[in-house]
Amino acid sequence: MYLLKIYLQAPVDVPVLSDKFWYLTKDRTFALPCPFNNRGNYVISLSQLTRWMGVKAEELGVEIYPGFAAGEVLYDSNDNVVGVGTNDMGISKDGSKKETFQHGVELKGKLTLLAEGCRGSLSEKIISKYNLRGKVQAQHQTYALGIKEVWEIDESKHEPGAVLHTLGWPLDHKTYGGSFVYHMKDRQVSIGLVIALNYQNPYLNPYEEFQKFKHHPAIKSLLEGGTVIQYGARTLNEGGFQSIPYPVFPGGAIVGCSAGFLNVPKIKGTHTAMKSGMLAAEAAFSVLSEGSSMVVYYDFLRKSWIWEELKKARNYRPAFEFGLLPGLAISGLEHYIFKGRLPFTLKHGKPDHKATNVAKLHTPIEYPRADGILSFDVPTSLHRSNTNHEHDQPAHLQLRDPTIPELVNLPEYAGPESRYCPARVYEYVPDENGVLKLQINAQNCLHCKACDIKDPQQNIEWTVPEGGGGPGYSVM
Ligand SMILES: Cc1cc2nc3c(=O)[nH]c(=O)nc-3n(C[C@H](O)[C@H](O)[C@H](O)COP(=O)(O)OP(=O)(O)OC[C@H]3O[C@@H](n4cnc5c(N)ncnc54)[C@H](O)[C@@H]3O)c2cc1C
Ligand code: SF4
Repeated sequence: MYLLKIYLQAPVDVPVLSDKFWYLTKDRTFALPCPFNNRGNYVISLSQLTRWMGVKAEELGVEIYPGFAAGEVLYDSNDNVVGVGTNDMGISKDGSKKETFQHGVELKGKLTLLAEGCRGSLSEKIISKYNLRGKVQAQHQTYALGIKEVWEIDESKHEPGAVLHTLGWPLDHKTYGGSFVYHMKDRQVSIGLVIALNYQNPYLNPYEEFQKFKHHPAIKSLLEGGTVIQYGARTLNEGGFQSIPYPVFPGGAIVGCSAGFLNVPKIKGTHTAMKSGMLAAEAAFSVLSEGSSMVVYYDFLRKSWIWEELKKARNYRPAFEFGLLPGLAISGLEHYIFKGRLPFTLKHGKPDHKATNVAKLHTPIEYPRADGILSFDVPTSLHRSNTNHEHDQPAHLQLRDPTIPELVNLPEYAGPESRYCPARVYEYVPDENGVLKLQINAQNCLHCKACDIKDPQQNIEWTVPEGGGGPGYSVM
């Protein structure tokens, strides 16, 4: 009864009422059979739901420390994880301690569960340290970047619960991705473009592709007369079943998108993230009360619907390695005829950072100028993301080798970080001698993690910034 009462208060109000799937050319739309099956689902703002859940959790006695990011993993002398450490606060750009300096704190526990979302910075360290992919012969993870806006549109065009997904334009047939348009409540529409990060052309600019997308006649007519309320970007996992690492390490486990439980054909990961958290909690309970091992979490996962669902969907994403039309054909067969029972598992192609071609194989892409009505420049969008970082702190985007941008990325790949970053954190600007040098505007960062994934040399390490710095989403 108590749970039902809580559930009824949750900001989950708009049921899906229609579900469409279109293939787009530059000027036209073609309706396709809709594979998403969103009836029974709700269109929500995840940031509003998690904020609401945070209050409920605190009422139940859970302690939440929102202003502190976990900056390091703590180990005991036997290499077991014993907790996390928050990073020091009040360090200036040059590394000196400011008046506000405070040491980070150590949060220790009998078990540590990591739930940092896609490409978690600590989770990736743990996966690599304990060889958690090798342990179960998992493939590398693959990713996409989602760029999104929430609009307030004209009342007459608003259809609460209407859901649309598209494939095709503005992306070419070699670039996997598509859009989503979700009508929420209060005249709000969530609209975004997701682009797989294994795209080859270093001149491709995901932000500009999204701006272009909004000019499609079918989308333009929806947005015209509306205003943008918020902008944001985040990567998502696309590796699916074949990329799930062994999710248990000495002293804890990995849950949600940090372990890669997103269902790619559904483009959904909140259900699997929540379920994996619940299974990890059950496993933790048995460890703490009965002294069993956290290995039971892996057993619980394999017996759960997460495993079944992701296994069924395993060939969907790699099918698109053959191009858009073969991908649609294979994934259609899988979905409608074989229902995940094909007797093989397709492999993913190259890791995303290796997929980028050198610039000389492509011609630069000319993107239209933003019109300020449907499309916007990056500074305008950044303002709408409410992103905020303490300016005087060391950059949280660290270059493993500071010479690589000018020696490799710029001459070989035409400086792709200046395009794939949806916040223009990376800019090549001339020094006093007119030589282009990489400038990192870390304060703009949206924490999407695309640079950690896509840099051709894997030279960029995303680390947590000071305290609660980052985007301030309220309706995303
Ligand atoms: C554009 C886009 C559209 C999507 N659409 C849908 C959809 O329609 N339906 C759906 O179900 N799913 C959707 N997803 C996927 C969904 O957002 C994720 O699957 C889900 O949020 C994963 O939950 P999580 O708890 O694992 O991670 P997250 O929701 O990413 O939460 C992780 C949290 O940990 C914080 N964090 C990370 N590192 C640290 C650290 N070191 N210290 C402290 N805090 C840290 C992050 O700031 C974040 O708040 C979408 C994703 C994207 C990018
Ligand atoms: S700096 Fe990296 S993590 Fe930050 S917004 Fe740009 S690509 Fe995303």
